[in-house]
Amino acid sequence: MKRVYVSSLAANLIATKRVICNNGKWKGEINMQLYFWGTRGSLPYSNRPEAIRKKIKTALRLAVQHKLQEEAEIDTFIDTHLPFDIKASYGCNTSCVEISGGSEFVICDAGSGLRDFGNHVMQKTAKPPQIFNIFISHLHWDHIHGFPFFVPAFIPGNTVNIYGCHAQLENAFVQQQEPPHFPLPLTSMGADIRFHLLEPEKIYEVANFKVTAARQSHPGNSYGYAFCKDGKKVVYSTDSEHQEESEKDDYYFLEFAKNADVLIFDAQYNLVDHFSAKRSWGHSCNIVAVELAVRAKAKRLCLFHNEHTVDDHQLEKFLGDTRRYLSFYDQDSTLHIDLAYDGLNINLTPNTDYPPEVY
Ligand SMILES: [Zn+2]
Ligand SMILES: [Zn+2]
Repeated sequence: MKRVYVSSLAANLIATKRVICNNGKWKGEINMQLYFWGTRGSLPYSNRPEAIRKKIKTALRLAVQHKLQEEAEIDTFIDTHLPFDIKASYGCNTSCVEISGGSEFVICDAGSGLRDFGNHVMQKTAKPPQIFNIFISHLHWDHIHGFPFFVPAFIPGNTVNIYGCHAQLENAFVQQQEPPHFPLPLTSMGADIRFHLLEPEKIYEVANFKVTAARQSHPGNSYGYAFCKDGKKVVYSTDSEHQEESEKDDYYFLEFAKNADVLIFDAQYNLVDHFSAKRSWGHSCNIVAVELAVRAKAKRLCLFHNEHTVDDHQLEKFLGDTRRYLSFYDQDSTLHIDLAYDGLNINLTPNTDYPPEVY
């Protein structure tokens, strides 16, 4: 029989101070990696036929200058001569990031990328019991609409823990599967589904990670999460707007993201949209992302929640502009900047089950 209830997580509460977990403070084998299953913001993106045709034409135009005969030559040409936006795609799925290295599955948000994650798990290790811990930034559709398609939640014997800071957390998941929205109610899913309300700024221990939430500026509020393990720190901060208040030296985010090994940051907009046309829509931009990442001394910045109306070529240019801005903002910075794509793997350890970064 499936249970759905709310837990305070009191037993797992460790402390009530802000999370700072750097400089190898926690000893043990370093083992942490990220896999991006969904990176688009607000709505899934569609790679339309004309966009695919444009990629093929560009690739063929470049290929005719080379005498490609053997398959290995074609692979080498793809790897070395084609830009990412031609040979691949930044992807279509909405927010879902897996953080592995703990004792159980840990996932940030349940956008449409959760479906692909679930299918991957089913192919690899379908056998229950398995435990999934899903941290929800907020309850807008694009962060929960993958859940009804998360196959492991239909398997009796599995446990799905859903964490969040919104009092309506459980209701939102129940309602999105009620008629007329979806044919299968949440209660028809066979796994043991549990809802856990968290409080911001407290430190919890989940699947061997120390986890802290921070409240962010977004319509209805959103929450970022910092995950720490073995001296490594990953900050997942999506759907968060940073306006003029972020210029202050004591801005909360500087402490929250301090020394992050990877900072996943909402950069849906460009500078103009962020400060004018789409002000107060609850998202940030690439320029603010760079400045906050440098000021927080993050090592790696991952632009995230990619605008759903722009194509791969525009995103490639957006990434280039962002890297150029870093060279103006801080010439000495060693910050590494990525633009997240569906399938991006960031390995904070030498060992991984996933292939290394292919592109
Ligand atoms: Zn969103
Ligand atoms: Zn939102």
